[in-house]
Amino acid sequence: MDTIAHWINGAAVPSTSGNTSPVYNPATGEQAASVGLASVAEVEAAIAAAKAAFPGWRSTSLTKRAEILFRFRELIDANKLKIATLVSNEHGKVVSDAMGEVSRGLENVEYACGISELIKGSYSEQAATGVDVYSIRQPLGVVAGITPFNFPAMVPMWMFSNAIACGNTFILKPSEKNPSAVMFIAELFAQAGLPAGVFNVVQGDKLAVDTILEHDDISAVSFVGSTPIARYIYETGTKNGKRVQALGGAKNHMLVLPDADLDMAADALIGAAYGSAGERCMAVSVVLAADAIADELVAKIADRIPGIKVGPGNEPDNEMGPLITAEHRDKVKGYIDGAPGDGATIVVDGRENLPAEGYFVNPTLIDNVKPGMACYDDEIFGPVLSVMRVSGYQEGLETINANQFANGVAIFTRDGGAARQFQFDVQVGMVGINVPIPVPVSYYSFGGWKASLFGDTHMYGPEGINFYTQGKVVTSRWPDPSQSTIDLGFPSER
Ligand code: NAD
Repeated sequence: MDTIAHWINGAAVPSTSGNTSPVYNPATGEQAASVGLASVAEVEAAIAAAKAAFPGWRSTSLTKRAEILFRFRELIDANKLKIATLVSNEHGKVVSDAMGEVSRGLENVEYACGISELIKGSYSEQAATGVDVYSIRQPLGVVAGITPFNFPAMVPMWMFSNAIACGNTFILKPSEKNPSAVMFIAELFAQAGLPAGVFNVVQGDKLAVDTILEHDDISAVSFVGSTPIARYIYETGTKNGKRVQALGGAKNHMLVLPDADLDMAADALIGAAYGSAGERCMAVSVVLAADAIADELVAKIADRIPGIKVGPGNEPDNEMGPLITAEHRDKVKGYIDGAPGDGATIVVDGRENLPAEGYFVNPTLIDNVKPGMACYDDEIFGPVLSVMRVSGYQEGLETINANQFANGVAIFTRDGGAARQFQFDVQVGMVGINVPIPVPVSYYSFGGWKASLFGDTHMYGPEGINFYTQGKVVTSRWPDPSQSTIDLGFPSER
């Protein structure tokens, strides 16, 4: 059985720590590989390689950096199916969905190819007599990314594309549940001509993360994962003087008003709730249905569920695969088990007719859900859609704004005024208007509010460029020696 290695200084480096973690095929429940978990010394070796590569990489011209990124972009595009298959094998999502993941990740590489424009500063001639002032943005040094299991290719691309384009060197600590895709991506980076040490992968668990958080040579940490760990990363990283952006969990609502196109809303809900078995931080997990249309909407969703093809991700007809682990499957089932006792109604029960093997839960629909029930209050991260009935816009809005999470939200309506008011009122970072999963394109930035984000900056796009650079302002005079005088005052010349 293969043991998945680290990628340090331009080559695969097997772990010698003696600690490993199993990597499963979630569709069968069989162990497919092991991953070596880094010791402190192994993380330090990766950081040392990145530190050594930094002076050369930050001195590399913008044109040369863009050239390498363009080549990398072509290699990812040419190998999309291979990357998607690696993702599907270890994550469980269907290959077509994994192809979508790679495409959305690739957008970030494409954005970073424009680094020459993105990193431009500004220039003010004659700010004072004979004095020019200009700003530049410079890389931070060695930066790290710590990523979750649910997008093993896309979320790393959110981070490293801009970080590396800006001239930083990078340490990635992927999820130990599906570590193979990024090892192949590291090979493609090398083929594209990225110098050794600029992009490194350390496989590992909490020990690797803590080593990164405590190491003096790490300047910044980007994190995506669950809220408790995001909070921990933010608190520990900032305490140790690092710049940190830590994106956490979610509970995304869709508000459906009485004037919405209910077939369009039901179609959108099927994709947004059950795609990737609900293991998306932008999945819709609660629909707030206005009383006037709630019965009809629930019936339309329930009618569509039997048409969803559930099965192994590598069979082309399937639309929804298994969950990531047996523990996670049992946790998701636990929320369904507990719902009737809390007063909710199971309309479609995904605990029935399950395949004999693998970590499957079928699409589930629960009605009459209310705040205070575990299936509402917690992030389930599975194929479970809850329906909460609301009197209308105001109750829907108040419910959303009272939730601790604030990653994504959607409103379905034909009323442009209501949609505009919603965009103004709602306290959530990413808003969809008749769009169920409003993941911003790569030239905007991704991030939620409240318990879905710790830190000031959203990820990728313009905020990503800011996060991975620090500003410097230069005030310059090339004096005429004949004008030279002594002045002890604070410079305030006009
Ligand atoms: P997780 O928090 O368990 O793990 C994320 C990363 O943190 C992994 O690399 C893991 O190895 C590491 N980690 C886990 N426990 C740790 C600990 N105690 N100390 C230090 N490091 C630790 O998350 P996950 O289960 O891999 O991913 C699912 C979660 O990620 C969900 O909550 C989902 O909403 C969230 N997510 C959020 C976004 C977003 O953009 N806000 C995007 C994707 C996923």
